[in-house]
Amino acid sequence: MLFSELGLSPEILRAIDEQGYSQPTPIQEKAIPLVLSGRDLLAAAQTGTGKTAAFMLPILERLKKFANTSVSPAMHPIRALVLSPTRELADQIGVNVQSYTKYLPLRATTVYGGVNMDPQTQELRRGVEVLIATPGRLLDHIQQKTVQLNKVEVLVLDEADRMLDMGFIQDIRKIMGMLPKERQTLLFSATFAPEIKRLAADFMHTPQTVEVARQNATNEQVEQLVFKVDNFKKRQVLAHLIRSREMSQVIVFCKTKISADQLARDLKRDGLDAEAIHGDKTQGTRLETLAAFKEGKLRVLVATDVAARGLDISELPYVVNFELPNSPEDYVHRIGRTGRAGAKGVAISLMGPEETRQHEAIEKLTKQTLTPQSVDGFWAQAPAPQRPRPAQTREASSRDLAPAQAPVLSAGKGEGLKQARPGRRNRKEKREVPALLLPPRYKVEIIR
Ligand code: AMP
Repeated sequence: MLFSELGLSPEILRAIDEQGYSQPTPIQEKAIPLVLSGRDLLAAAQTGTGKTAAFMLPILERLKKFANTSVSPAMHPIRALVLSPTRELADQIGVNVQSYTKYLPLRATTVYGGVNMDPQTQELRRGVEVLIATPGRLLDHIQQKTVQLNKVEVLVLDEADRMLDMGFIQDIRKIMGMLPKERQTLLFSATFAPEIKRLAADFMHTPQTVEVARQNATNEQVEQLVFKVDNFKKRQVLAHLIRSREMSQVIVFCKTKISADQLARDLKRDGLDAEAIHGDKTQGTRLETLAAFKEGKLRVLVATDVAARGLDISELPYVVNFELPNSPEDYVHRIGRTGRAGAKGVAISLMGPEETRQHEAIEKLTKQTLTPQSVDGFWAQAPAPQRPRPAQTREASSRDLAPAQAPVLSAGKGEGLKQARPGRRNRKEKREVPALLLPPRYKVEIIR
């Protein structure tokens, strides 16, 4: 099928052509005609399926009749409202809308928390037809009366399951209660938990259901590997995998902000270019880190689930689960960061001894067998210790971290491996030393 067969205007077709979209994805084929017809829609679509364009293109088509170049704010009331669980997803949708409206005088803006409200307020006062918002910040603007929702014709709840997980249900119900009853509602969700169904029953009119992938299915374009690794070796295994697989870029998922920070620090110490993003970082820092990653200037992005939600990095080759998520749905979302829009990707999970429960839950949800294996070129299991050792406090030794075929560190005449001492300066040439050879507390430099 071609985009031109879907009933979209030349201005929109031209804009998506410039985006390099040659033909609609399955969700777009199904959803675009339905949205154009004005029906409510319940769509089961994962990230990476092209769902943003699936709702946004027909919305823009429907709003085209209101497009105008007047400077009067009254000529630009909010006609479409998109609610997003996170700032990153909101930002991503905003970027897409800007590109889709390149040839249409329709205005769009994005508002989310964690940043100064003033620029958002000014933007809203000028008038916008499409507003993309996180629920909390939208309520702030409503309270300040910078937002009027009485002309909204289309509401989109994007990643509704995640909004519920994040505790936005009351905010969403409150916002929905403020919208005109006569409107179109489009709900996108990777999963359909009972609460989503209740929301749909309460606020939607006989919605059409569209499902493009099996519910809770993982993308077949993503190769999934599970490696069994002792917890204390995970970092070294990760560094080894990044190097041995020559990962140009990778998102590494951690369960907590603390472990994400710690891991990014450790990887940096290992000589890998890594930064963490999570909810405790300022919005400015998060956007800067994301921009660096998107531009390919950062190799490793260590992220928590919430921070990485909605991240759209084209051609991201690898995702690593440093810790398996407690909720198997998060696994599906995490690995959906790679293999987007038809590209191939690899998702690697490092499974610690106490993560078998999470592993089983993932297999059950995704209805597949993910057989744990050991890491190629790396002794996933430490050789049996010669001497008894204290179980908790022992630090990994370079011996049991060595890969099966560890590269030999060669030192020229007069060179030697030396443990760096603080405060002592030498004429030194920094070399990349395989991190997995080193016990974590040492930093090795080659001294001339
Ligand atoms: P989404 O699922 O909306 O996050 O989209 C995932 C990625 O697919 C984004 O980078 C979109 O720009 C891209 N995309 C959306 N529709 C198409 C299409 N029809 N052809 C190629 N890429 C697309």
